Amino acid sequence: LRPDALSVDTDIRTYPIRFVHLADVSAHLNDLGLHGPRVVVITDENVAAHYRTPLVHAFEAAGWTPHVVVVPPGESSKSLDRLSTLYDTLLPLGLERSTPVCTLGGGVVGDLGGFAAATLLRGVPLVHLPTSLLAQVDSSIGGKTGINHTVGKNLIGSFYQPHAVLVDPETLLTLPAREWVNGMAEAVKHGFIADPELIDYTERHLVDILGHHDLEATVPAVRAAMHIKAQVVADDEREAGKRAWLNFGHTFAHAIEHVAGYGTVAHGEAVALGMRAALYLSHRRAPAALDHDRLDALLAQLPTPDVSGLAFEALWDAMRHDKKTKDGTIRFVLLHAVGDPFVADDCTRASVQRAWDFVQQSTA
Ligand code: ADP
Ligand code: ZN
Repeated sequence: LRPDALSVDTDIRTYPIRFVHLADVSAHLNDLGLHGPRVVVITDENVAAHYRTPLVHAFEAAGWTPHVVVVPPGESSKSLDRLSTLYDTLLPLGLERSTPVCTLGGGVVGDLGGFAAATLLRGVPLVHLPTSLLAQVDSSIGGKTGINHTVGKNLIGSFYQPHAVLVDPETLLTLPAREWVNGMAEAVKHGFIADPELIDYTERHLVDILGHHDLEATVPAVRAAMHIKAQVVADDEREAGKRAWLNFGHTFAHAIEHVAGYGTVAHGEAVALGMRAALYLSHRRAPAALDHDRLDALLAQLPTPDVSGLAFEALWDAMRHDKKTKDGTIRFVLLHAVGDPFVADDCTRASVQRAWDFVQQSTA
């Protein structure tokens, strides 16, 4: 075991991010002070199809007794009903406070399983094994857990930090192409807010990553993106200050998802479009500091669905009613330069409309 230097430093605990093989997870749990024989693994059907058997065998070979709970894939599993079923399955097993719960999957499984771990027996040790690119570069770090409500997404949940994030990049080899785009959008976002080198790297390697799913090209980007996310959440655990920067591209993204219908445009795709709008707004304010054509060309390499039907009126309305919008003020994270973000709450409706017109024209 060679523990990696990457770690997340929070008020609650400092936890490592390690690049591992799934077969070695039990050894890493031991190394983290987590012990069997019992371990709970929460996953979804798609991920289970590929990784349930090898993970279970690896645990058993090491003398552990894994209990695997499989939920249906997709956002609809982030529900009170599904959570309730999870409790019904897990509590009769007579879990102990020390029984580790591992989430094996994307953001959905991480959020649902994380919230279950946060609440079972007032909290059992949680380890994320993110298998989607989006979960690896973004949602597995930072401690957000929770489920949706009919009133809105992620409205029920808690901050609950895991004991570790263990990433096996090889799991990406079975990830559908669209999910690669989803993940790379958030990785590029991390570059825009904090790391010009990651932007340069992505420019050089995006074809290998998205076109060929080349892990050698992908892993350095994942590592850099995780590093940025870890740093941002360590500096600001609870959504004030720096954490707001993570919303680069997200003012538009949330509106696009809302208006297009969740699932029609995937989250990362919406973020890619939202970043193009935010970049346009940024460039209008500080034309000298941003090479708009070059940066926009990078974002344009992230394939997105047709948004020609999304009227600005509807998007503007959605932005004004976003749960993060206070007293009607719409906030955008913009860039002074790559790696130098700021929050602007004074963008005029006309300027925002021009940004959307630009995005629509260039994706038409
Ligand atoms: P997120 O994009 O937030 O990670 P999900 O948890 O819904 O959202 O994951 C996206 C989709 O990818 C889901 O359908 C999930 O089952 C699937 N998935 C996640 N990881 C893998 C993987 N390694 N191989 C194949 N499918 C995967
Ligand atoms: Zn996001």
